[in-house]
This record gives sequence, structure tokens and C-alpha cells, in this order.
Amino acid sequence: MSFLDALKEIFPASALRFDDASREEYGRDESDQGTHLPEVVAFASNAQEVAALLGLCQRERVPVTPCGARSGKSGGSLPVRGGVALSLERMNHILEVNVEDLTATVQPGVILGDLMKTVEAKGLFYPPDPNSWDWCTLGGNIAENAGGPRALKYGVTRDYVLGMEWVVPTGEVLRVGKRTIKGVAGYDLVGLFVGSEGTLGVATEITLQLLPLPRAVCTALMLFSELDGAARAVSAILAHGILPRTLELLDPVAIRALEGSGYHYPGGTQAALIFEVDGSAEEPLLAEVARAAAIAEEHGAREVQVAQGTAQREKIWEGRRQVSPSLRKLARHKLSEDIVVPRGKIPEMIAATHAMGARLGLTVATYGHAGDGNLHANVLYGGPEDLPRVQEAMATIMRHAIRLGGTITGEHGVGVAKRRFLQLEQSPELIDLQRRLQRFFDPAGIMNPGKIFPDAP
Ligand SMILES: Cc1cc2nc3c(=O)[nH]c(=O)nc-3n(C[C@H](O)[C@H](O)[C@H](O)COP(=O)(O)OP(=O)(O)OC[C@H]3O[C@@H](n4cnc5c(N)ncnc54)[C@H](O)[C@@H]3O)c2cc1C
Repeated sequence: MSFLDALKEIFPASALRFDDASREEYGRDESDQGTHLPEVVAFASNAQEVAALLGLCQRERVPVTPCGARSGKSGGSLPVRGGVALSLERMNHILEVNVEDLTATVQPGVILGDLMKTVEAKGLFYPPDPNSWDWCTLGGNIAENAGGPRALKYGVTRDYVLGMEWVVPTGEVLRVGKRTIKGVAGYDLVGLFVGSEGTLGVATEITLQLLPLPRAVCTALMLFSELDGAARAVSAILAHGILPRTLELLDPVAIRALEGSGYHYPGGTQAALIFEVDGSAEEPLLAEVARAAAIAEEHGAREVQVAQGTAQREKIWEGRRQVSPSLRKLARHKLSEDIVVPRGKIPEMIAATHAMGARLGLTVATYGHAGDGNLHANVLYGGPEDLPRVQEAMATIMRHAIRLGGTITGEHGVGVAKRRFLQLEQSPELIDLQRRLQRFFDPAGIMNPGKIFPDAP
């Protein structure tokens, strides 16, 4: 039987697309890494279909690339070697929210924002909050070990995954992990599979830990006339024993981009911090905001706006979420990095990034989750003629982050965009060990090939 006939035995006709428009659509994501056409797009509706597909592809040595919403910024969902694009978006049911156990069980295609709203309506809280929450999927979050602004206080996706139904690349369906908060039986395969960027198999069901919803939240926008002051205020606030749930930084490029999209900041604003605390009552939170505001003022903050109620808070966050789309309007292309440095090194990293942009004649925005040292350095450029300078900029940013004791990616993953930089951070022996691990799970090398690791010598 041909591969195509076998595929048609696994999936109904309505779950397979071969047309050019669909192949193009599923050949792109948010990473600006070009379009890579799959031969076919398959829409799974259960684990059995996924298992049968992976078994078939393993036998026939056909590449399979899973995808969720394709909001990824490292090119993880791009079918760079063709083959099958496996979309999990139709597996989009929240299977259970258990208020007594504080858990939720979901299919991988559930949109993160839908889960957040569902559990919050029951007084529960799922903290990981990538800024793409209104369209990214839990499957994509698992594969990238997604973080977000609240990672500063609450950690990242991996900290909330208790167990999963997981299809390994040879087609077996496994139950890994547990449904309880504690549990140490066997190797931590959940820890391994979360963050494996679609290279070690496919999540078909996910059980997540939830927390009680904080009863009070307080948000402040701190405005600075100098970027360096804002950067120094980040570590000063944390060093004073204040643990906000978010501490986000906007640089002058991000602020100008937002102004171009209709947001207004008082004249002379060159940088801003979004400071947010949560807890059980408003009064102590306001005291915490006042302490942080005093520290910010010592570092040159000229104004601190405290959100009065949900609408004002949402307006501040709406601005933060619009940074990436607003920067996109400034140039035809945008490459987004997400390096992390120790928090005390944030001012140095930002200064070095901006100096490099000036030297190379490129606009570089540096913003993001500064509270945990995770900065989005966005390089804007016009076209292919700029690529040599852009490549030099990327390499300089990565090298500088490593030199300061940091890492090349804090949450977006290595994917295809950063695989040539992995060797800046990891030894050849470590990369080789991971390649062998990958080969153990995937002998034919079909699972999202061309990602994470540089090509073997
Ligand atoms: C405006 C914007 C803001 C963003 N902000 C953040 C942020 O604050 N924090 C952050 O961490 N990220 C952020 N991102 C990046 C992105 O949204 C996340 O990486 C997200 O987790 C990707 O989810 P997705 O459903 O779009 O996955 P996709 O992009 O479709 O896929 C991502 C990876 O997951 C794999 N995959 C998808 N589903 C499965 C599955 N079921 N099983 C196994 N592998 C699977 C794919 O193969 C791929 O490697 C942002 C993106 C945008 C566009």
C-alpha cells in the first residue's frame, strides 16, 4: 500500500489537506524564518490517529512536524524537511476542571486563554501566561516550556504539568507523570518531554496543576526618562525583598512603536516598567507598590501610575501585548530573540545591545520579562540586503548573553532559528548526548527533524 493510501486509512478525507493554500498556511509561523511547505496537512482528532500516523511515518521514514497555533518564535512548527504537518488544533476540549484536586485535564489544541478563563470562573488560577495567550495552544506551550510575565513569581509551564498522554515517535501511546502534586516514581519523563520542541513525540492529553485565584491584584506603570535607570530599578526592587508577579520592561524603541499604534505616554518617556503584585488583600499590595515606587523614583522614575480597577490594568497589559505587533509595523522584517542574563547584568546587556544596533545601523528593541532576566531583543530590518548585518547582530547578542552568564533562549525554544547558536552555550559532548537520546526515541529521525541541534558533523 502506498504512503498516501495508508494515510487515508488513518484519517477521514475531511482531516487531510493537500491544496497549496493550506500547505502554505501550515508552512509559516511567527518566527520570520520563511515558508516551508509540507506535502500534506493532517488534522488529528484523537491519540489513536496520532499513534497510527507516527508508526506509519517511522516505517516509511517520512518527516512529521506537530503544530498548535503556529505562534512560535523559533520556527518549531515549520516543516523544514517537508512531509506531514500534524495539526492538533481540532483536539481542543477542556476535559475536566477538578476544583477539589486543583487540576485541569485538557487536549493539546485548547487555547491557553480559554483554559485561563474557564478555571478563573471557578476561583482557580493557571499562572503561565505567554503574551500570545489568546491564540497559542497548551500543546505548543508544553513543547516550548512557555513562560511569560508571571514566570517571575510563579515559574513556567513545566512547573504546572503533572502528567500527560504522550505518543512517542515509534507510535506507542504512554501515560507519563501523575495526577497528584507529589510523586517520584521512575525517571521524570514529564520533565524531559516538556520543552522537547516537538522532537520527542506528541502530547495528546495534559493534566495541569492549578492554584487558588489570588483575591487581589495591583498593577503600576512606572515611567522613566532614561532606560538605564529603569534597568537598574529592576534588580534594585528585587534586591529589596519585593517579589512582584510581573516586572516587565519597555525600552524607547518599544515605546515609540506603541505610540505609533495609538498608545500615549507622557512626553520624554524613554522607558517603562510594568510592576504587578498579587495576594489575598488589596491594602498590603498597595503598600508593596508604594515601596517599589519609592525605589523606582530613586532610580529616576518621573511618574508612577497605579491602575484603578480592572479596566485600567487591562489597558496597561493591552499595551504590553501590542509591543510585538507594533514593532512589526516599523519594518518589513523582525527577528525576535529571547536571551536571559543574570538580573544584575540587565543594564549591561541592554546597553551592549543598543550600542551594537548603533554600530551596525540597525534598529533594535529590547523589552520583555526583565524581572527574571529574560529580554526580547528584536532586530528590525527591511530586506535580504540587510541579512549579513542582522546575522552579525544575532550572533553578537547571543555571545554577549553567554559571556554574561546567560542563555540563548528563555522561553521561545531553539527551533530552527537558534540551532546554530546552541554550541555557544553547550559542549559538543552534551549536544551529542542529546542527539543520541533523540535517536533512542526516534530511530528513523522523523520527528520534527532539523530543529534544536546543529547538523551533525
Ligand atoms: C505576540 C507573541 C507573544 C509571545 N509571547 C510569549 C511569551 O510571553 N512567552 C513565551 O513563552 N512565548 C511567547 N510567544 C511564543 C509562542 O506563543 C509560544 O512559544 C507558544 O507556546 C507556542 O504555542 P503554539 O500553539 O502556537 O505552538 P506552535 O508554534 O504551533 O508550535 C510550537 C512548538 O510546539 C510543537 N508542538 C505543538 N503542539 C504540540 C503537541 N501537541 N505535542 C508536541 N509538540 C507540539 C511544535 O512542533 C513546535 O515545535 C509569543 C508569540 C507571539 C506571536
